[in-house]
Amino acid sequence: MAWDRVLAEIAAAVSPHRGEGTVADYIPALAAVDPMKFGLAIALGNGDMHCLGDADECFSIQSISKVFTLSMALRNVGERLWERVGREPSGSAFNSIVQLESERGKPRNPLINAGAIVVTDHLVDQVGPDAMIAELIERLRRLSGDSSVHIDQAVAESEARAGSRNRALAHFMQSFGNLHNPVEETLAAYFSHCAIAMTCRQLARAALFLAFDGCDPTSGERMVTGESCRRVNAVMMSCGHYDNSGDFAYRIGLPGKSGVGGGILVVAPRRGSIAVWSPGLNQAGTSTVGSIALETLVRATGWSVFI
Ligand code: GLU
Repeated sequence: MAWDRVLAEIAAAVSPHRGEGTVADYIPALAAVDPMKFGLAIALGNGDMHCLGDADECFSIQSISKVFTLSMALRNVGERLWERVGREPSGSAFNSIVQLESERGKPRNPLINAGAIVVTDHLVDQVGPDAMIAELIERLRRLSGDSSVHIDQAVAESEARAGSRNRALAHFMQSFGNLHNPVEETLAAYFSHCAIAMTCRQLARAALFLAFDGCDPTSGERMVTGESCRRVNAVMMSCGHYDNSGDFAYRIGLPGKSGVGGGILVVAPRRGSIAVWSPGLNQAGTSTVGSIALETLVRATGWSVFI
């Protein structure tokens, strides 16, 4: 692949759109981020990395962390996970409560807030909130080969302060018996993993196992079974971008996950993983410029899973 040409095409495509979209403003720490930022990193199975722009600047990965907690839960809990959370697209906003009432406290999928809270609750069940977060951070540091991956405590604290909606979701699920730990314990872990700060380079590198059947291709370490890996990718393809998931699959054709910090992680099976970051979001909460970059990348590389 002529990577210099691919990166140049992406840079040219995003340039007229830089700054577009609306930066998340539900907490001050996210509202303060410069909307002109743009970074991209492509990690390949042979260890090569191709980067553009602000690829080495930390941002709040937010809901992208849900991909890593889902992988951990499938590894630690297994298929039992699906008794408490579904795997259908929600067609609703990431923090919606409406379906939870008619579906008796079982969230639609693990990538919306309610579903991710249940996944976190499962993990907290096993070792408690502190050890669960420590295990997640240790895993991300190992996978990214970078010990600087950390939780932005200011973001975690603001998430907790502004967390009424997530508390409502958690209490509602608890009333249906679908939360096993005290709401504040599970949410402390949830807010912490949403507040993880990573760079595009670290994130693309950390997700490489999802492109290689669950095995990190550079270290050879198995992170999840091949079957679990395919399941995580399937859920990302159908549910990874809020009520924008169908449009994302149509335009980009790769499994992925957006976060309201402006990051998007996508997986190109057997090829590599890509992280892009640009803070301006579309109405559904997916990075506007990030989506343009990925659309261009897929066109230039032919990496859609549908080809
Ligand atoms: N921490 C955010 C919340 O729970 C995550 C939102 C997102 O990135 O989708 O509201």
